[in-house]
Amino acid sequence: MKVKSPLEIYKYLPKTNCAECGYDTCMSFAANIIDRKTKPGDCPPLTRDEFRENLEKLNELTAPEIREITIGSGDRAVKIGGDDVLFRHDLTFFNPTALAYDVWDTMSSDELENRLSAIKDYRKFYVGEFINLDMVAVRCVSGDPEKFRETVKKASETGLPLILISFNSEILKAGLEEVSEQRPLIYGANENNWRKVAELALDFNVPVVIHSKDLDTLQSLAVTFSEMGINDIVLDPGTEPIGKGLQDTFRRVIQLRRSAIEGENKKVAYPIMVVPMTAWLVGKDKLSTTYWETIIASVFIVKYADIMILHSLEPYEVMPLAILKTNIYTDPRKPVSVEAGLREIGKPDENSPVFITTNFALTYYTVESDLTSAGINCYLLVIDTEGLGVEVSVAGSKLTANVINEAIEKEGVKDRINHNSIVLPGLAARLQGELEMVSGMKVLVGPVDSGRIPGWLEENWPPS
Ligand code: SF4
Repeated sequence: MKVKSPLEIYKYLPKTNCAECGYDTCMSFAANIIDRKTKPGDCPPLTRDEFRENLEKLNELTAPEIREITIGSGDRAVKIGGDDVLFRHDLTFFNPTALAYDVWDTMSSDELENRLSAIKDYRKFYVGEFINLDMVAVRCVSGDPEKFRETVKKASETGLPLILISFNSEILKAGLEEVSEQRPLIYGANENNWRKVAELALDFNVPVVIHSKDLDTLQSLAVTFSEMGINDIVLDPGTEPIGKGLQDTFRRVIQLRRSAIEGENKKVAYPIMVVPMTAWLVGKDKLSTTYWETIIASVFIVKYADIMILHSLEPYEVMPLAILKTNIYTDPRKPVSVEAGLREIGKPDENSPVFITTNFALTYYTVESDLTSAGINCYLLVIDTEGLGVEVSVAGSKLTANVINEAIEKEGVKDRINHNSIVLPGLAARLQGELEMVSGMKVLVGPVDSGRIPGWLEENWPPS
């Protein structure tokens, strides 16, 4: 996106504050374009003839540097690309790296079914949300278009977006005939087969991966595809899994992304694919190969893979990668927060303790999970600290005795209990005296680590 401030967008808007876009003012609409929550075409007056030039200009100014591509359809469709910066702290990264796990067309039907279920059903609860695996990559190993077609059909029943993998256009075509309406990504075109694969991408209107380790060839193929009218392109600069090859892979990926963003080279401004699964081409045993696949994937989640093909479904690979990508793609401009308020944990009554925490998501879910897993019936008063953790909130005066007391009053805490006591987190111990003064409650200081609350309760509850 070439514009960085709402004011730069505002000057092209009709400035009537008519609210037809759903926002009260044109300035608010402009701010939400910067945040990618809306787009210029969502302002109805802007689509009228008198503003057509402004709309075109805004579309150009607000387009992401890296093209954004949608793969799949329905609820589980994934978007890849769409980034504007090389470093997350400069803005944020959009569209987390899509993780695709492979199946192949020589698997027995039981093996295939089990693996597809494992991919589809993976769920990991993390900071208030479930993380899922994104896609299925179907590899043709048999060389038989009909076997490939059958495997693709089975994989499509998961509802997950698909990557169809073969360098043989007849085989890709068999798969596409089954699932083209689900908008799979086809892999792939290279310098030998590009013409036939380009025809498939055009005929079936699907995104396509172009593969070459030579970046000049990669760019030249991307330009050719673009001139043919294919714009949903993913670039695969080849993933070599060890030694100098891996170093070269890293160099190619960095060069592509730098050229697109810093060099404003639109010819390569497409999402990048990395294939950590190539570790299995050189690995000696399952454990060390899984380890190495995880290392390669971690490096390229950080820089700059938009989509990956992986093989290992071992929890010790899947979980760290899923969490890493979630963290890298968290918006650094906004602390991850939960709603403030009074929560009931278990079945609290008037004798139950009331614990205090902040609305920083990581703090909240840690405390909530520790209380729930220990089977403690209690209240949890979540204070709005604008998404900051306890220690920082106290230091920055977001968590003060007055702020807590306002929350106690607002949530009617005293009406729910008969002991007139409340428990501060250990990291906010310094607020104890002042909170007792302003609230009139007995204020206990809990442990620094919420994992120690069960032991703390044994010694301190009920209050004397
Ligand atoms: S619809 Fe357009 S003109 Fe009306 S408030 Fe929204 S941005 Fe402004």
